[in-house]
Parts: sequence; structure tokens; C-alpha cells
Amino acid sequence: MLDRISNRRPFIIPIFLPHAGCPHQCVFCNQTAITGVKQNIVSSETVDLLIDEFLEYKRPHRRSAQVAFYGGNFLGLKKETIRRLLGHTMKFVKNGRVDSIRFSTRPDTIDREHLEIISDYPVSTVEIGVQSMDDRVLAMAKRGHTAEDTVTAVRLLKERGYTVGLQTMVGLPGDDETGSFYTAQRIAELVPDFVRIYPTVVLENSRLGRWYSQGKYTPWSLERCVAHVKDLYLYYKNKAIPVIRMGLQASEDLEKGATLLSGPYHPAFGHMVHSEIFMDMAADVMEKRSAFGDTVTIKVHPRSISKMRGLKNKNVDALQKRFHIQSLKIVPDASLPEDQLAVSSLSNPTGIDLKI
Ligand code: SF4
Repeated sequence: MLDRISNRRPFIIPIFLPHAGCPHQCVFCNQTAITGVKQNIVSSETVDLLIDEFLEYKRPHRRSAQVAFYGGNFLGLKKETIRRLLGHTMKFVKNGRVDSIRFSTRPDTIDREHLEIISDYPVSTVEIGVQSMDDRVLAMAKRGHTAEDTVTAVRLLKERGYTVGLQTMVGLPGDDETGSFYTAQRIAELVPDFVRIYPTVVLENSRLGRWYSQGKYTPWSLERCVAHVKDLYLYYKNKAIPVIRMGLQASEDLEKGATLLSGPYHPAFGHMVHSEIFMDMAADVMEKRSAFGDTVTIKVHPRSISKMRGLKNKNVDALQKRFHIQSLKIVPDASLPEDQLAVSSLSNPTGIDLKI
């Protein structure tokens, strides 16, 4: 399902406004100066250059293009700055080169007054930095808003027909699997159009970095985080809520020059989650049928081959060892959906299909 959605996803032209409009310094953020004092706002000329540059890379199959203001708290900017950025970008929508605008913002900035401002511009998608739906975790992260602010924000946006994305974090101080799953349940109740899941990592120059060096915070291990995000992904999938991102991307989600002190960062985090899901599916089939024999074939969609194999063939090695298989082949089969596999063997040629 995720891949079908990603094909429909617009071509994103990201414009980063690092920490612009932030009223607080959240503990996991490596903001060095409280914003409001220093706001990193791009000029209109830079907006033009960035949009022109990115549009060069737009391939014909990406039907729509969206300019995205990321990296700060968009609706926390001064009202004239919000109008300037949206107004300037609107000319690209008017001339047909861009379809719409999106931005990310804090839930406590979404109120009727701000929604009135953006209603004058072609904004279609709003992403909210939710992080957690547990007020205790939000307070420990010094977010300065509550879960109820998110509930209100989503309601206001949905009433006006915006596409709503919710950004969440796993492994914040005071968070555990139970609390994180509670967050997922509360989020599912809000029926967002999509979700992003970020692991909490420790950055230099953040309060979390200080707590980490003082032994007051221990980040989750990569294994623990992947295993839990897998459960969250499957939960959302079951609720038909697309998860469009799992894990941080160095180029987009980490501040330029940010030093990672510790935590569950991996450039292929999302791939690792999908690989574990395929591993679980294959193991499930094999456990149910012990008489598979020495030679086993697993068919998957061509785009799922590397997910089935796992990083460095991890899944293949693990399955061979666990089920005493001498020869395990992973074979592409374009007739299968991308989230499905079919297992067969010489002794069981008809095979068993399984899908998540
Ligand atoms: S996490 Fe978001 S709201 Fe908090 S300081 Fe960083 S950019 Fe600002």
C-alpha cells in the first residue's frame, strides 16, 4: 500500500527555515539560540532560485508539484513573513508550474486567526509536529503544548478540507513501547491522511545531549526502535493510515552540520523496518509448514526483493539457519502485490501466499 501511495505522492520542493518561528527549544532539537531572536528566513529571491532549481528534476510521472516549507514552525512566523512566503510562492501556482503549498508547524499555532491568513493562498497540506500524545512525555520534551492542542488542530484543519499529516517520535524521555502505542492509538482516532515516525536521536548542542552525557537519558537501541516502529507501521497499515516516512534522513531531518552523539539513526531505517516485516512473514509461513524441504523459493514483487533479502542478506541467512534450508532463492514475481510473498519448495510446489 505504501508504494502505491508513494507513486501518487507529489514532487516536493523543500524550502528549509531552520528553527524559524519556534517559541521554545524542544529538548531533542539542536537549536543553539532561542528563536524569535534569530529567525532563519529565506529571501524571496532564494525561494525563486530553489523552486526553479528543483523543478529541473521533476520527472513526468510525478503528476503534481508542491512547495514545502519545512524545518521550523511555519505558523509561528510573523504574520507578514507568512504572507510574504505564501504570496511569493503563489505566483508559481498561478503560472501552473507548481500545484500547491505545504508546511510543517506546531499544533499550538493552528488557530482560527492563522487559518484565516492561509486561506488566501493555495495551501493544501499541513504537517503537524505532534511527537507524542502523552502530556507527560510532551512536558519532559519541553514542547510547550499538550495532546489536546493536536486534537483541536486536526479538527480545525479537517473542517477546512486540508490534507493533514502527523509527525511523531519514538523513544523520547519518559516514552516506552506502551506509551508510544498509546500515541499511535490516539493518532489513529484523529484519522490523519498520513503519518511520519521519527526515532529520537541525541544531537550535540541539545538539552538531550546534555542529559545523555550526564547519564540522565539513554536513547533506544537501533534494534529496539526498528522492532517497535515495525509494530506501529503494521498498526497504522491495519487502520489504512499511510506511514510515509520511518527514520531520519540526514539531508532533510538533521540540521546541516548537526553532530549525532548517539541514538537509533540508520540511513536505511525504513528499509530495515520493511525487511523485518518480510522476515516475519516468511518465518510465519515456514513455521506453519515444517515440511518445506531443503530447497525453498520465495517469490516477491521485484520492488520488494531487497526488503525480503534484508540488509547484507540478513533475512536469507537467518531463514536458512533457523529452518535448516540448504538453498533459499528469492525470485521476482511482478504478479504479486508489493506487500506479499509466496513460498514454495520442491516438496510443496503449490506454495503458500502471505500478505501483511
Ligand atoms: S523541535 Fe520543532 S518546534 Fe521544537 S525547537 Fe526544534 S524546530 Fe522548533
